[in-house]
Amino acid sequence: MSAATRPGRLVLLGHPVAHSVSPLFQNAALRCAGIPLVYEALDTPRDELAARLDALVAERAAGNVTIPHKERVAERCASVTPVAERVGAVNTFCVGDDGSLSGHNTDVAGFELLARTALGDAPLPRRVALLGAGGAAAAVLAAVERWPGCTVTLFNRSVERSARLAERFTVVRELAGDADRAVKGCDMVINATPLGLAANDALPVAVDSLEREAVVVDLVYGRNETPWVHAARAAGHRAADGLAMLLEQGALAFEWWFGVPAPREVMRRAVLEGEASHHARHARGSGDRLDSHPRESGDPC
Ligand code: NAP
Repeated sequence: MSAATRPGRLVLLGHPVAHSVSPLFQNAALRCAGIPLVYEALDTPRDELAARLDALVAERAAGNVTIPHKERVAERCASVTPVAERVGAVNTFCVGDDGSLSGHNTDVAGFELLARTALGDAPLPRRVALLGAGGAAAAVLAAVERWPGCTVTLFNRSVERSARLAERFTVVRELAGDADRAVKGCDMVINATPLGLAANDALPVAVDSLEREAVVVDLVYGRNETPWVHAARAAGHRAADGLAMLLEQGALAFEWWFGVPAPREVMRRAVLEGEASHHARHARGSGDRLDSHPRESGDPC
């Protein structure tokens, strides 16, 4: 399913959104495909979501949804794809010709690509430890439940939330009391908490606690490799951070909106070059944020 006609506007809804690199790579993709739209990040506090959605429907907008609105946008949609239904959250939406809001979820396929990137030529895991029980964890479970014979041990800070998620996903066989216990005997460990976003965050779980062959998958991404992925790699683990997932969920959203292949390499380069120019600005002492200055010129294609 995709928007029947070209959207009137392309936006990211979330709160906060200033840190997002999605405008950087989506605008590079739009320029490359010759689509005359600009992808805008719209900071939308919770109490403004309903009115903003009304306005976007009237404008025949399409876009992405991020924290904390994915579940509420799913509830508001007239129709959602089966994968969005399974996750209970929408990260991609469009407005059809009849003016109805449709929702999709590309995080699941984005995670699948990230997991396979981390695995390399290693086989799919049999026992997964999942840390976190929010929307991203639900997307992970919607992917992992399709892996043959795989079971999940779940740990989350608040027990009620992990219990609710385990009720919806029978692939979760065990709720662990702490992260160290969750990773015992697991051949893949996945971080679906925000731990690692802030410089002084603790690691989601100590690398010493992991099984020797455990593959580390961090949904968090940053300008550099996350500290957890860095430490895991240094200890000899296969590991990948969330950048591959971010790019793939964005590429799949682009394809859903426009029905044309997403220029994945252009999108990836836009993020990497954005990082390089961010570092250059810092070296000059300007302190500008990479994502507050979408590139105005220079065809990345
Ligand atoms: P969410 O729905 O707000 O859930 C956050 C989860 O993390 C909850 O389980 C929460 O536990 C836990 N948590 C929050 N702060 C914590 C802390 N200080 N210590 C331990 N646990 C903590 O968010 P989400 O949508 O699931 O996203 C989670 C993270 O995944 C995001 O921050 C983002 O970095 C990453 N993500 C990446 C991608 C990508 O494309 N790479 C896509 C989606 C998400 P409680 O239930 O106890 O509050």
